[in-house]
This record gives sequence, structure tokens and C-alpha cells, in this order.
Amino acid sequence: MRVFGHAYLCDPYPGTVPIVGHHFLDGPKVDRSAMAIMITDECINCDVCEPECPNEAISQGAEIYEIDPNKCTECVGHYDEPQCVQVCPVDCIPKDPAHVESEEMLWVKYEKLTGNKRP
Ligand code: SF4
Ligand code: SF4
Repeated sequence: MRVFGHAYLCDPYPGTVPIVGHHFLDGPKVDRSAMAIMITDECINCDVCEPECPNEAISQGAEIYEIDPNKCTECVGHYDEPQCVQVCPVDCIPKDPAHVESEEMLWVKYEKLTGNKRP
């Protein structure tokens, strides 16, 4: 069992992708390169990532910083790389397997959040 923040993820079957709950997705069917991202409990509350987010998706939670998956576009539309991942000193912002999103979905979210059209 692996613990990410407050979520308990189980991976009892080799070759599957663990997600929250009791359902498992076959690895090859999941695009791991396009997921929203999350902050794990390794966060040291250094405050560095929050001001870097162009979507104001990062906020202080009860114990550590959190990312709102409804606002995170992985920086699509703003930067080539997720800015919070770039600045985090302890590398505690991985992809979130509980929120699988394609790049197209991230662009749609960008348009909805900003009111701008995809270039
Ligand atoms: S990847 Fe970008 S949009 Fe998502 S939380 Fe990090 S800085 Fe914000
Ligand atoms: S940069 Fe990393 S360690 Fe610092 S507050 Fe953000 S997630 Fe936590």
C-alpha cells in the first residue's frame, strides 16, 4: 500500500495502475503523461509553489498545501512545464492517478478558467 496525502492507493496486481477505491485500470489504456497533479504528504509547507501557479489552484490545506484539480491545467496555456513541480524543493508534486486528464481536457479547462481561446 502506498500513501499519498490522505488517499490510500493499493496496487495488488502487477501491471495495473493504482487508483483510489477498489477499481483498477489496465496500465496500457492510461496516458500517464496527461494527468492533473497532486501534492503528497512530503510537502514541507515552504510556500514556494503557491504564488507560481497561474490558475490559483494551490492553497494551504489543513496540514499541507493542496492542488484543486478543477483549476490545475498542468500549466497548459501558460507554461511549457508545470511551474509548481519546477520550484518544489522536495519533489513532492507527482501526477495524480485519481484525476486522469488528456491534454485536450486540460486545454478545455484552460479556456473555461481564463475565457481565452486555445491559440
Ligand atoms: S501544474 Fe501549474 S496549474 Fe497545476 S497546480 Fe501546478 S502551477 Fe498550478
Ligand atoms: S513547493 Fe513543494 S514543499 Fe513547498 S509548499 Fe509547495 S508542495 Fe509543499
